[in-house]
Amino acid sequence: MTIYLFKTRLRFFVWISVLFLFNTFIGESQESIQFKTVVIDAGHGGKDPGAIGKISKEKDIVLNVALKLGAYINEYMPDVKVVYTRQKDVFVPLNKRAEIANKSKADLFISIHANAISTPKIYGAETFVLGLHRTKENLEVAKLENSVIVLEEDYTTTYEGFDPNSAESYIIFELMQNIHIDQSIQMASLVQGQFKERVGRRDRGVKQAGFLVLRKASMPSVLVELGFLTNGTEEKFIASEKGQTYMASAIFRAVRDYKEEFDAKSKLEDITRQAQVVKEEKINYRIQVASSKKKIKEGTHIYKKFDEVWEFKDGERYKYTTECSSDYDVILKSLSQVRNKVSDAFIIAFKGDAKISLSEARGLQKQ
Ligand SMILES: [Zn+2]
Repeated sequence: MTIYLFKTRLRFFVWISVLFLFNTFIGESQESIQFKTVVIDAGHGGKDPGAIGKISKEKDIVLNVALKLGAYINEYMPDVKVVYTRQKDVFVPLNKRAEIANKSKADLFISIHANAISTPKIYGAETFVLGLHRTKENLEVAKLENSVIVLEEDYTTTYEGFDPNSAESYIIFELMQNIHIDQSIQMASLVQGQFKERVGRRDRGVKQAGFLVLRKASMPSVLVELGFLTNGTEEKFIASEKGQTYMASAIFRAVRDYKEEFDAKSKLEDITRQAQVVKEEKINYRIQVASSKKKIKEGTHIYKKFDEVWEFKDGERYKYTTECSSDYDVILKSLSQVRNKVSDAFIIAFKGDAKISLSEARGLQKQ
């Protein structure tokens, strides 16, 4: 009875120590794994107006939405740092925008745009991730957004001969590896979900195309097209203060949800990793009670004698143990009881899943 109580207490202490280890680890690493920085990129600016509607210019609309989005994040997610690529009506080259995101080690890059097309009846919001366009329509959006590089000095050198208006140039997006594609699509879907469900916008979906502004960004990134300035009704909405507030708050909620999922996932990954470390490093003693060339069926032989039987393969042989403790004295106490049932039972040691000699285990524990 005393032994039993002692064992129970010890198990409890072992558990507490393991939990403590987990907590220490999570506590320490929380800083490094949380979603911390978002880069908000208002498209165009300065000499580049972007798409031009009847009553508005893309560069003004997207700047307003970008600033509103940043203000929401600052207010409701104070632990997230907001970095803008521009906060004024200035021209910023596409390469420079990704550079700002990379320098700030951002966790997410959101480029905000508005669309234009020759058919005025087309309207709706869409969000792009980087990739090869699947339709000609998507290629046209990328061409339109990329064509601003011709306003940059020496753009052929900067973009290594990329011709924004030639379809052949876009082949690079097929060969490119986009390691952040899953997270980018996740964010894009959250944005589109918000536009559709909460703002009642026409959902043109999550799409892929070759945007130069996303190409060099080394984090999950999306390019949001708020709507078409070539559609009268839609232009009125996204050019209005109310429309911009709605669109910015929709993107804000998508960022909030993305961060929540991001943080939860990182935490889970850390717990798994730490559990693995504890498992790999931990010294355990067990009592070997049988060894057999053939696997012993559960419910027979040794399984009848002990409630807890743990099997492992040692070379060609199957070996069977009972009891497990990281404390040698505890296992030594159990040994005399086990020997009442199996007289030649003996203690063996493990480091994680690997069997080691008793003396090595005792030596490691003394360190
Ligand atoms: Zn644009």
